Amino acid sequence: MLTNVTAPLTLFSYRIRNLMNETPTSYSLLIMHNGDIYAVRDPYGNRPLCIGRLIPVTREDREKKRSETEGWVVSSESCSFLSIGAEYYREVLPGEIVKISRAGVQTLDVVPRYRERDPSAFCIFEYVYFARPDSIFEANILLAPLQCGIQYVEVLCKNRYVGRTFIQPNMRLRQLGVAKKFGVLTDNFVGKRIVLIDDSIVRGNTISPIIKLLKDSGAKEVHIRVASPPIRHPCYMGINIPTKEELIANRPEFKDLAGYIGANSVVYLSVDGLTSAVREGIKHFKDQQNELNGTTALPSSHSHCTACLTGDYPVELEW
Ligand code: SF4
Repeated sequence: MLTNVTAPLTLFSYRIRNLMNETPTSYSLLIMHNGDIYAVRDPYGNRPLCIGRLIPVTREDREKKRSETEGWVVSSESCSFLSIGAEYYREVLPGEIVKISRAGVQTLDVVPRYRERDPSAFCIFEYVYFARPDSIFEANILLAPLQCGIQYVEVLCKNRYVGRTFIQPNMRLRQLGVAKKFGVLTDNFVGKRIVLIDDSIVRGNTISPIIKLLKDSGAKEVHIRVASPPIRHPCYMGINIPTKEELIANRPEFKDLAGYIGANSVVYLSVDGLTSAVREGIKHFKDQQNELNGTTALPSSHSHCTACLTGDYPVELEW
């Protein structure tokens, strides 16, 4: 089976290209046409999209036909592949139009960005909040080891089967969300000082009941470290981040955030800290892969959207 070859442009791929020229960002598309699948990622690569290979399921089959591909699948997150017997094959690149047919995986075209000098703009919040830790983005696995010298224990037991609290539509549901979402592992922290790491603080409603829960359950002090910078701007690329006024980082309470949420201290990661951690992770993973494969590492050219943190949007806003 042929894979990854460049195929000649067809009328249909010209139509997709035309659509992409009209819509600079932020989408991933899967189109079925005449029995073929077209996987399309926006030129800024703001949203993720990757291709998986369906492999033989039983051990006997796998040993017999290790290199055989039984079919192709496409997903925004590679973590979904394992549960259907597929393995990660590769990412769809920013602006790429991929055709998947009986001839295999073929690149039809790579559509340039609106302004050619613009860098790509993969949503950095995929790393912070949205994606599952076992997903692969930009050839990078999300989960990184924690190295801080402080004893690591779990203090909360998270119910993973309820929705995400910050995207619940009203305050009552968000508050109920917190109550439904956590139990406490009291034996691990009674009488101790806790440094609690949260991925982000959006409105500031979720964290204070958790701090109260921990203190009521016996924690001596609760210090908050936030693994992303303060969110100050709305997202116009499809993520339900509230209006500027609702964001805690824009409210007067932010001046004494620790006091407002009932913590002993709060420290955020800087924008540079976040982007360099992500890019370092990508480089590290690529170096490892290259060492395994005996190849030479290519310099990383990944760039990220940080608009909700900096107000610097990947494309000009038009109203
Ligand atoms: S504004 Fe924030 S949430 Fe929206 S795409 Fe950019 S980084 Fe992601």
